[in-house]
Amino acid sequence: MSETNASKPQIDPEEKLPEVYVDDMLMTLKYYVDEQQSHIQIKDPSVCQQCGAKICLNFCPVGAYQEQADGKILIAFQSCIECGTCRVMCPENNVSWQYPRGGFGVAYKFG
Ligand code: SF4
Ligand code: SF4
Repeated sequence: MSETNASKPQIDPEEKLPEVYVDDMLMTLKYYVDEQQSHIQIKDPSVCQQCGAKICLNFCPVGAYQEQADGKILIAFQSCIECGTCRVMCPENNVSWQYPRGGFGVAYKFG
């Protein structure tokens, strides 16, 4: 059975979407940083040194992944918004990720 146009949402291709700035949205977040324990770790730093793509430098929305002069990766876990991208996107499966301990992490505001 074919779906009719009446059941689909009507989208105006000419309609301009509102501009959204990620930095502005990040300003609304509240962080409860666990300074004692990072919830993200690189499993084997030498794997990062050999990794050609280093796509972690690009896919993290807050730029938490930083390359060091020796090719190793430093993770600024304090700014993590817990999107989980690095948990699944590292091509070498070289990222160990878990939610922050209870009481720590990012707090989102809604509305
Ligand atoms: S993509 Fe993965 S293996 Fe490559 S540098 Fe980043 S964390 Fe390391
Ligand atoms: S979970 Fe998301 S925000 Fe946090 S370090 Fe990974 S990619 Fe960045």
